[in-house]
Amino acid sequence: MRYGLVGAAGRMGGEIRKAFAAHDLVFTLDVDGETHTGTPQALVDFSLPAAFPSTIAAARRFACPLVIGTTGLSAEQLAEVRILGEQTAVVQSFNFATGVTLLKMMLREFAPFFADWDAEISETHHNKKKDAPSGTAILLREATGRDCPTHSLRMGGVPGDHTVFFANEGEVLSLTHRALSRSVFALGALKAAEFAVSAAPGFYTFEEVLSCGLKR
Ligand code: NAD
Repeated sequence: MRYGLVGAAGRMGGEIRKAFAAHDLVFTLDVDGETHTGTPQALVDFSLPAAFPSTIAAARRFACPLVIGTTGLSAEQLAEVRILGEQTAVVQSFNFATGVTLLKMMLREFAPFFADWDAEISETHHNKKKDAPSGTAILLREATGRDCPTHSLRMGGVPGDHTVFFANEGEVLSLTHRALSRSVFALGALKAAEFAVSAAPGFYTFEEVLSCGLKR
C-alpha cells in the first residue's frame, strides 16, 4: 500500500512509520511542509486539529481513503469528516486500541444495568497531551449513555489509561483499560487503513473495522 501521513514528525507519526514498515510512505505533511513522491492509496492523520483543513484538502486531492485518529476535533470538523465519507472510505476513531473498542461495546451493552449507580470516568495521559478530556474519555462517556463527570490527569509519559467507575452505597465496580505503548494505536490504524483501501465509500468506526475482521 502507498500511504500518506499527516503529523509525520510527531510521536504518533513515528509509531505509524514503524507499524506501516511493510508499506510505502509517499506523502508526508507536517508544520514544516510536505513531501510527495507518489499518490497515496490511503491517508493517515495523527496530528492536531490545526492540520485538519490540510488533511481534508489532501484526501480530496488524492481521492483516497482517510484514517483519522486526531483528537480535539470540533463538531464542525467531525461533520466534515462524515461529509468526506460520502465520497471515499473514512475511518475515524479517538482510540485505535482493540481493548478500548471492546470496552466501549461492553459499556453500551451493560451501562443500562447501572442506571441507579453513580458513574464517573478518569483518564491519565502524558504531560504533552493538548486536549482534555481525552477523545477516548468522550467516546466511553457516550457509550455509557450518560453525562458522567470526567477527570483528567496529565503526568509523565503515560500513553493512555482510562477507568470507568460505577458505585452505589455498597459496591464499586471499575473497568480499566491501559495502553502499554503508543504502538497499539498505530497497529490499529494499520488495520483501519488495510480495511479502508478496499472498502466502499462511507464513514466507518474502528468497531466496524474490527467487526469486519471477525466476520472474515
Ligand atoms: P505530537 O504533538 O507528537 O504530534 C502532532 C504532530 O502534528 C506534530 O508533528 C505537529 O508538528 C503536527 N502538526 C501540528 N499542527 C499542524 C499543522 N497545522 N499542519 C501539519 N502538521 C501539524 O502528538 P502525538 O502524541 O503524535 O498525537 C497526535 C494526535 O493523535 C493527537 O491528536 C492525539 O490525541 C492523537 N492520538 C490518537 C490516538 C487514537 O488512537 N486515535 C492515539 C494516540 C494519539
